[in-house]
Amino acid sequence: MYSHKPFMLIVSAPSGCGKTTLLHMLRDKVDGIGFSVSHTTRPKRKNEVDGIDYHFVSRDEFAKMLDAGFFVESATVHLNAYGTSFTAVDTLLAKGDDVLLDIDVQGMQRLKSAKRYDFISIFIMPPSLGELESRLRRRNTDSDSVVRQRLKNAEKEIKSASLYDYMVVNDDLNAAFLELSAIITAERLRTARIIF
Ligand code: 5GP
Repeated sequence: MYSHKPFMLIVSAPSGCGKTTLLHMLRDKVDGIGFSVSHTTRPKRKNEVDGIDYHFVSRDEFAKMLDAGFFVESATVHLNAYGTSFTAVDTLLAKGDDVLLDIDVQGMQRLKSAKRYDFISIFIMPPSLGELESRLRRRNTDSDSVVRQRLKNAEKEIKSASLYDYMVVNDDLNAAFLELSAIITAERLRTARIIF
């Protein structure tokens, strides 16, 4: 049997596009995928688990780690610091897993310029801004001003979609999941990644 050299999959999306659901589906249904757990200074949400969703750290701890060169890339998103550690990525790659990274546009661009890792990037797109607004309002978790801020951010982020290798529109969840799986399958079959 042939195997392939493991690679990284960067997935970005404006909030409300169903990215988290899609990533959980990938993690649960596609073999050989590991999830890179980022560090963040953002407070933990009710349903989140430290060490699984994020490593939650103080601003002080984060600053020390940053100075010590602990992160492959880091960025400030909505006033909080987020970073991908070398440990998170390298441990999974060494196991032979393809590594899924849920990071924003800045993070993707930093990884691209670092030229250190083999990665592909996928942008999840809402069917339209109107549909994104309905989803954010249906979720009923944010105030009107937060929804408007998220929509403004989404408009900005969508302009960066062309910097990514692939774009998947999340209109129907299962169709989007199948498209993501197809991208992963094709990338695993690239001869450049096959170990002969
Ligand atoms: P949330 O706080 O809602 O979990 O995430 C907010 C944003 O931060 C999302 O767009 C997510 O992709 C991004 N993010 C999460 N971890 C990292 C990271 O390690 N690096 C970067 N650049 N962005 C991250």
